[in-house]
Amino acid sequence: MQIENWGLHWFRRDLRVPGNSALKENWKQTKGRTLGFFCFDSKFLSRSDFSNNRFAFFLKTLQRLKTDLREQGGDLLVVDCLPYEAFPKLFHYCRSKRMSLPTLVTWNRDYEPFARNRDNKIKTVLHDEGVQALDFRDHLIFEPHEISKNDHSGDFYQIYSPFFRKWSSRLKSSEGEHRIQLQAQANRYFSRHERKTDLFKMTWDKLRNDSDFPFADSLDRFVDLNSKKVTIPIPEAGFFAAYKNVLKFKSQIDQYKDQRDSPAVNGTSGLSIFLKNGSLTVAQIIAALDLHSRTSQRQAGRNQFTKELAWREFYYSILFHRPEVEKHSFNPKFENIKWVNDQVFFRRWKEGTTGVPIVDAGMRQLSQTGWMHNRVRMIVASFLTKDLLIDWRWGENHFMKNLLDGDLAANNGGWQWAASTGCDPQPYFRIFNPWLQGQKFDPAGEYIKTFVTELRDAPKEFIHEPTADRSKWHYPAPIVDHSIQRERAIRLYKPGSDGRN
Ligand SMILES: Cc1cc2nc3c(=O)[nH]c(=O)nc-3n(C[C@H](O)[C@H](O)[C@H](O)COP(=O)(O)OP(=O)(O)OC[C@H]3O[C@@H](n4cnc5c(N)ncnc54)[C@H](O)[C@@H]3O)c2cc1C
Repeated sequence: MQIENWGLHWFRRDLRVPGNSALKENWKQTKGRTLGFFCFDSKFLSRSDFSNNRFAFFLKTLQRLKTDLREQGGDLLVVDCLPYEAFPKLFHYCRSKRMSLPTLVTWNRDYEPFARNRDNKIKTVLHDEGVQALDFRDHLIFEPHEISKNDHSGDFYQIYSPFFRKWSSRLKSSEGEHRIQLQAQANRYFSRHERKTDLFKMTWDKLRNDSDFPFADSLDRFVDLNSKKVTIPIPEAGFFAAYKNVLKFKSQIDQYKDQRDSPAVNGTSGLSIFLKNGSLTVAQIIAALDLHSRTSQRQAGRNQFTKELAWREFYYSILFHRPEVEKHSFNPKFENIKWVNDQVFFRRWKEGTTGVPIVDAGMRQLSQTGWMHNRVRMIVASFLTKDLLIDWRWGENHFMKNLLDGDLAANNGGWQWAASTGCDPQPYFRIFNPWLQGQKFDPAGEYIKTFVTELRDAPKEFIHEPTADRSKWHYPAPIVDHSIQRERAIRLYKPGSDGRN
């Protein structure tokens, strides 16, 4: 059977239809005869930072994507196969049936070291097969190579503030406006009546009608296998859930600057889980919240929120330019710190029984919901590295195993910031006092009481006071004395120190 001019779009972390840069180009060039393809390698399930909960959210996003594609006449095939094998297998099948190969394969760029390497290899595979490969910018508004110190030298920024100034000026340029508008059009998709049921003109059945088709659709099998290991409620997934969240946050954004550091208040956007899978992009968020318009009133909340989106792109830039940060300290001076790495302390930190209420609340929020408030992420990360003297990589790995939004660039950046080993980090001698942090950001202990329920009836003064006796509420005494640990940490980090305590 001959199918003229059809395309494959290889989905990865761009799991949406609206405003999907590469999918759109594929659709244009093949006049809608685009098939969605997703390759999942089950070896991934044995990675040390694998999370069944995050995988469940990811699978839910894929299911949503498949439904969205089908409702619009399209389709998605999820295969349990490495892409290096999957593409040649599919092409071999097409040849054996005298079908034409796809005119093109498209995907959106990913900047993680593993992904860059994989994508380069796939380009060679496709080139050898004689199939055109096209990749696009999508999940970042500015790619790491686009924001450099000076357009000729190409040096990347290692300090956030000048990075942000450059990023922000490009955002407000006509080019930034153009990029936002391109994806903004897609926001209209939100109103269901604008969705066409015949947007796509082809489904996998066109190819799959022979019994020797080389793939089974593995999505339901993955969902089934994984569902038994899920330990938390999994939120709604996909573009529409993400966009609903954006609209809800729109009514709160004016208060964002004042509320974003209060973990007891639901004052942040909750968009990180959607950004992670590409259920929507930074450009779509900017458009929906009107962050780029110079005429917006009451700018403080919007400006602050824009800065946070830029932090995400900053950490992508660091990971892109210095991929070794995945395993090593950005600042080589701190690569050989002699961490104490006490296993019992690490266990107490993970289970949220350190005896420091704000730390324990954060760690319990993480295990119960798969998310933790940003301020509390900073506090628990600082506590692990500077109070418990445990290697930041242990904490980074634990976060990845538990966060629904677990993302290499932001997680690594956040951990290296808190551990003072990263670029533009918290200076090593400026150490968070977790007791004062708790007092300042959760003064009434509301957040703490939500997760450390044994302290529900404890008066305020028993919550933020390190020496208070909390045994009557069956809550442990602090496992370390902050003032002593602080001095030990400074000795560990001090340049020229031999790291002995
Ligand atoms: C130790 C540590 C680990 C972290 N790990 C992750 C992670 O794995 N994945 C992740 O997405 N974020 C991570 N962050 C950043 C931040 O905590 C989360 O992005 C934020 O809490 C998500 O909630 P939100 O979407 O409501 O954020 P909002 O306050 O609404 O911010 C909007 C968006 O801006 C971006 N953003 C905000 N703060 C940061 C930041 N400090 N660094 C990078 N991007 C930011 C996120 O994409 C976020 O969704 C980490 C921070 C720390 C200190």
